[in-house]
Amino acid sequence: MDRQWLEERLAAFPLYAYAFIDTSELVFADRVRYICEHECPMYDTTWACPPAVGSVAACREKVLSYPEGLMIATITEVSDIANISETLSTRADHERITREILGIVRERAADTLTLSTEACAHCEKCAYPDAPCRHPDRMFPCVESHGILVTDLAEKHGIDFLAGSNLVTWFSLILYR
Ligand code: SF4
Repeated sequence: MDRQWLEERLAAFPLYAYAFIDTSELVFADRVRYICEHECPMYDTTWACPPAVGSVAACREKVLSYPEGLMIATITEVSDIANISETLSTRADHERITREILGIVRERAADTLTLSTEACAHCEKCAYPDAPCRHPDRMFPCVESHGILVTDLAEKHGIDFLAGSNLVTWFSLILYR
C-alpha cells in the first residue's frame, strides 16, 4: 500500500486520528470475548458478533493473514455520554466514513478485512441464525468481536481513548493485502 497516497486521500475525512498498523502488534485476549458473552446484549444475535464470527483463535488466524492495515478513529461530542441512544446515534457517521475509506483502500488492495463498531445494523432484523448474511460484503464485525484489545492498540499509537467526558470515540480497522 502506498501510504503517502492513502494519507492524501484521508485528509478529506473528519478523522480524530489514524495510524498504519502491522497486525503483528495486535493483542488478542479471551477476556475481550468474555465481555461480549457476558455484558453485550448483541451476543449471539447477529452474524457480526460472537459466536458467529468464530473462536478468538480462528479470528486471530484470519486477522493475521493480513500483514498490515489502517486504524481510523472518529470522535463526536454528545450532551450526555451516559445517554446510550444519543451515544449510539453517532455511530452511523463513523460507519459511513469507514465504508468510504474502505472504498479508497480497495482501489489499491486486492483483499481487505474490515472490523468496525458494535454489531451490524444493516438489516432491520438480522438473518442470523436461520439464513446466511444478506450483505456479507458490507457487514463489518466489531473489532472487539475478534478478541482485539483496542485500548492497547490505541495506546501504542498515542491515541487518547477517553479523550473527554462527553466525547464518543469510535474505532475501525481496515486490514489489507
Ligand atoms: S448484513 Fe444483515 S444479515 Fe448480515 S449481519 Fe448485518 S444485519 Fe445480519
